[in-house]
Amino acid sequence: ALTIGIVGLPNVGKSTLFNALTRAQVLAANYPFATIEPNVGVVPLPDPRLTTLAEIFGSERILPATVSFVDIAGIVRGASEGEGMGNQFLANIREADAICVVTRAFADPDVVHVDGRVSPKDDIETIHTELVLADLQTLEKAVPRLEKEVRAKKTDASVLAAAQAALGVLEQGTVLSQGARAAGIDPADLAPFQLMTTKPFIYVFNTDDAGLADTAMQDDLRAYVAPADAVFLDAKFESELVELDEDEAREMLEANGQDEAGLDQLARVGFHTLGLQTYLTAGPKESRAWTIRQGWTAPQAAGVIHTDFQKGFIKAEVISFADLVEAGSVAAARSAGKARIEGKDYVMADGDVVEFRFNV
Ligand code: GDP
Repeated sequence: ALTIGIVGLPNVGKSTLFNALTRAQVLAANYPFATIEPNVGVVPLPDPRLTTLAEIFGSERILPATVSFVDIAGIVRGASEGEGMGNQFLANIREADAICVVTRAFADPDVVHVDGRVSPKDDIETIHTELVLADLQTLEKAVPRLEKEVRAKKTDASVLAAAQAALGVLEQGTVLSQGARAAGIDPADLAPFQLMTTKPFIYVFNTDDAGLADTAMQDDLRAYVAPADAVFLDAKFESELVELDEDEAREMLEANGQDEAGLDQLARVGFHTLGLQTYLTAGPKESRAWTIRQGWTAPQAAGVIHTDFQKGFIKAEVISFADLVEAGSVAAARSAGKARIEGKDYVMADGDVVEFRFNV
C-alpha cells in the first residue's frame, strides 16, 4: 500500500499526531488484512456514502478505504550530510510515497521550540533545505555519469536535460514538487533518480484554538504551500478526540466549532495527494470502498478485489452513487435506465457503485 511519511522538527507535535493516528486505527481493526506495525498508522478514509449504501442494501458491515501514515523520526539540521540518524531518515523518506510536513503553529510557552521561535514558514524552510540538499547531492553525482551515457547514446538526452534543469530549481532552494513544472521538467524524466522533493507534499499546521479560528493566518499559509494542500489541526485536541465514542466526539467537535475532525481531514487530503480514488461495492454482507489510482480502467479496478476478476473481466454494471440514492434501490435504478453496462476501456469515476461480471 502507498504510505505517507510524517516528518517535522523536534517538539512540533509529531508524536502527539502520530499517536492519535494509531489510536484511530483501532477502528480499522475489523480489517482481516490489517497488520499492526509500530511505526505505521492505518486510518479509515471517512466516507459517509458507505453508511447510506449500508442502509439501502442492509449491509452487515462497512469497510472504508484506508490511508497509511509512517512516523519518520529524526530530521535534524545536517540530515542531508547523512550522519547518524540522517542516513536512516533519508532512507525512510525515499520509501514513502508522499511527505507530510508537520510544523508548529501553537504558542504554548511551556513547550520549547528548537529554534526558539514559533514560525511555521521557517520550520518548512528548514525541512525543505535538508531535502533539497539531499536531492542536490543525488543529481550532482548523477550528471557526470549521464553526460557520458548520453555521449555513448545509452541514455536519452531528455533525462540529462531534466536532471540539469532540476539542479537549477534545487539551487534556488525550491522543492521540485513546487518548481519542476514551472521549469518545464517532465516529472517522468526524473523518476530514475528517486528524488525526495519530487514526491507530493502535505503540510500540517499543528495549531491551537486561536489558530483554528484565524482564517487570515490560514489563508496566508495555504498560499505559501500551494499547490500542495494544507491541514490545520490541534494535535493535542485530536489525541483527546480519538479516545471518545462517536457521539461524544461529535459533541466535542461542535463545541469547538469544527464540522470535521482534523484527522479525518488529514486522511482525505492524504488519500487525494497520493493520487488515489475509490469505487464502491455493496450487498447484504458489506458496503465497501476499494482503493484504485485515478485513471484506472474497469478491469484494473476489478483486479483490486481479485486478480481473477481482472483476468476474466467481461463487463461492469455501474450506477453512480447519486443516481442510486435517488432511485432508492438497484432495481429502481435499472428501470430508470441509470445502470450502465461498461466494458474494459471504461475509466472509473469516483463514487461509482459497481458490480463486475467475469469468467473464471
Ligand atoms: P515531536 O517531538 O514533534 O514528536 O513533538 P511531541 O508530540 O512530543 O510534542 C512536544 C510537546 O508539545 C509535548 O509536550 C506535547 O504535549 C506538546 N504539544 C503537542 N501538540 C500540541 C498542541 O497542539 N498544543 C499544545 N499546547 N501542545 C502540544
